[in-house]
Amino acid sequence: MDTNSGNNPVNIGFSVPVIAGHESKKEKTIVIVNGVEIGGNEAVIIAGPCAVESREQLYETARAALKGGAKILRGGAFKPRTSPYKFQGLGIEGLKLLREISRETGLPVVTEVMDTRQVDLVAGYADMLQVGSRNMHNYSLLKEVGMVRKPILLKRGMMATIEEFLLAAEYILNQGNTQVVLCERGIRTFETCTRNTLDLSAIPMLKHLTNLPVIVDPSHGTGLRWMVPAMARAAIAAGADGLIMEIHYKPEEALCDGHQSLFPDEFVMLMNDLKKIAIAIGRDITLPSGK
Ligand code: PEP
Ligand code: MN
Repeated sequence: MDTNSGNNPVNIGFSVPVIAGHESKKEKTIVIVNGVEIGGNEAVIIAGPCAVESREQLYETARAALKGGAKILRGGAFKPRTSPYKFQGLGIEGLKLLREISRETGLPVVTEVMDTRQVDLVAGYADMLQVGSRNMHNYSLLKEVGMVRKPILLKRGMMATIEEFLLAAEYILNQGNTQVVLCERGIRTFETCTRNTLDLSAIPMLKHLTNLPVIVDPSHGTGLRWMVPAMARAAIAAGADGLIMEIHYKPEEALCDGHQSLFPDEFVMLMNDLKKIAIAIGRDITLPSGK
């Protein structure tokens, strides 16, 4: 269906997706992750390690996430690594640890599902399922998670246009799962200084074109710890409904992406700044101190 012809104010040359678009649903979609609302007035911060490595690592990092004011814990159990010789994640053991630490801290958990054969398994442990950048074009996986009744965090493919990203979301929505959060995580450009080029213009564009919540991943978006706070602040200022960030209790010992993971103290400081920015644009981020 071509919905670009009617009252779509931007002429960007492609059809606005059917289910995710404003024409099929006027009000914003609020995605609820075990009680935490994404897409409402409050910007939701998801934080945690790149990968679940051990009980101690996940527990200590979850405590740092809680202390800073994160509302959801992240952590990969099945990791899509570029090299098959690098740490691939703890698998089922990692899923069990996520559930255990979620119970202890009260934080809902999001973790990646990489394979259609593992969707039910991962859904049995996680509160939200992540489809990673490398799998955004995996249409079988998109359809499979569309049949699950758990929220989905869909990351933009590193080479995907906004149109391809939205059509990937349509695959999930089409199966009846309306609980989809879009995540801008950087795209590949000619630039090599940063791991990816974080496309912050995707935030207003996605919100303009869809009713879905939009969050940003400044960790994979830059690949550089020192750049993460600046891009996190910019993302909230640009209207993101939340962020997903890598933090680690000992980044220098991390088995994966330690170089882009914030130290616990840095995370707490950043959260204070993010709250001020959220308030300045008429939103909020509640911090543990009640501030
Ligand atoms: C991740 O968030 O763990 C991850 C692998 O990110 P991406 O899919 O965006 O590369
Ligand atoms: Mn990572």
